[in-house]
Amino acid sequence: MPLLSRRHVMAGGASVVGLSGLSACATRPLFSPDLDADVRSIPVIRARTDRIDRITVCLRPFRAAGPRLDVVQVGHKTVVHNYGHGGSGWSLSWGSAKLAVERALPVSRNIGVIGCGAIGLTTAIVAQQAGAQVTIYTEALPPFVRSSRASGSWTPSSRIARADAVTPEFAARWESMARYSFSCYQSLQGLPGNPVEWDTFYGLHSREPSAPHADPIGYARLDERIRDIEPQGNLIRVDDSRLPYSEVHKKPNLIFNVASYSDYLMRQFLELGGKIKILTLHHPSELTDLPEPVFINCTGYGARALWNDNSIIPVRGQIAWLIPQPEALCSMSFGNVYVVSRRDGIVVQWLGDDMGFGYDNTDETPDLAEARRSVSVINGLYRRMGYSL
Ligand SMILES: Cc1cc2nc3c(=O)[nH]c(=O)nc-3n(C[C@H](O)[C@H](O)[C@H](O)COP(=O)(O)OP(=O)(O)OC[C@H]3O[C@@H](n4cnc5c(N)ncnc54)[C@H](O)[C@@H]3O)c2cc1C
Repeated sequence: MPLLSRRHVMAGGASVVGLSGLSACATRPLFSPDLDADVRSIPVIRARTDRIDRITVCLRPFRAAGPRLDVVQVGHKTVVHNYGHGGSGWSLSWGSAKLAVERALPVSRNIGVIGCGAIGLTTAIVAQQAGAQVTIYTEALPPFVRSSRASGSWTPSSRIARADAVTPEFAARWESMARYSFSCYQSLQGLPGNPVEWDTFYGLHSREPSAPHADPIGYARLDERIRDIEPQGNLIRVDDSRLPYSEVHKKPNLIFNVASYSDYLMRQFLELGGKIKILTLHHPSELTDLPEPVFINCTGYGARALWNDNSIIPVRGQIAWLIPQPEALCSMSFGNVYVVSRRDGIVVQWLGDDMGFGYDNTDETPDLAEARRSVSVINGLYRRMGYSL
């Protein structure tokens, strides 16, 4: 079977590989010399469907009331919950970990963490930094956890709660988690492999009239509370009507190269003396057989089955990954598509016609048509800018 037409189907993701997209990129941009230099410098992402190298699907663990952080007893064991971070798990992880560890430490400095995704890994490290001995118990390790299938950008209030369920206490807790995480991320820059870095986001406002992005779920919008720490960027008007966008919102964007970031977190945990045991818990009562007196439960969407918690609603999200282009690191949105060109792959995500897209959908099967549609939107964008990809 010839390599160029081979299709690979993998557990949790399908991929289509075609090397014909590697030919030189002919460019003939339309930009006139008097156009703002910021707009002329938008990196060229080679959005071609034959450059899709895999498709991944993930379920955001959404709870209307926000993440669960309460403390419960299971027999003689104490369990601190730390799950249900919706579309904000990576962003809020350090702040959420801090709150959970503060609740566990008074019980014991011998802590079991259940789960090894964004929340479990950061929780385990924060506990170690506070002097605890930590063992992670988990069914799967990165990259085989849902966190490894995230877009990887700073989105602390994405699908984090429903507006009508947000209490003043939750809003204040969310703010403290977001501020603490943001400060942690500033100290994780400049590391080998660039696990965390700033890129430039281009919000391209299409010239074609479109209905405002409706939100039938009524997700909470909390970003205003941390406006002072987030760069706001600037809005650039584009008068050249040949270009498909009339305005560009340009701003710095904090991103996570999830492959190297997970690797960094795993190494940190092991270097600090952490232990990992692979196991699947089928019922909370199984915790009573483990040696630690206190556990922090970081099972994400898995908590729905394990803790019989039907307050977790799955919000499906799919990414079509394009072959990385280290020369074109940036992020952008155009139409209903969000792109993050990371070092470990280019995320192309169809956001749907409204904010209800993916809500209460448990289907983790890759949708090739959705992947192609999203990449084609970005392909059309560059073609209308005058590029031949
Ligand atoms: C398409 C998409 C894009 C996203 N983009 C972003 C983004 O840009 N920024 C952001 O901040 N967030 C983003 N998110 C959200 C983010 O991915 C989640 O909030 C995050 O992954 C939740 O992490 P977690 O550690 O709680 O869960 P998981 O990553 O699912 O980890 C759960 C862990 O628990 C283990 N586990 C589960 N059940 C059991 C069991 N019964 N026994 C033993 N172990 C168990 C699993 O093996 C795993 O190790 C995105 C989500 C999606 C779907």
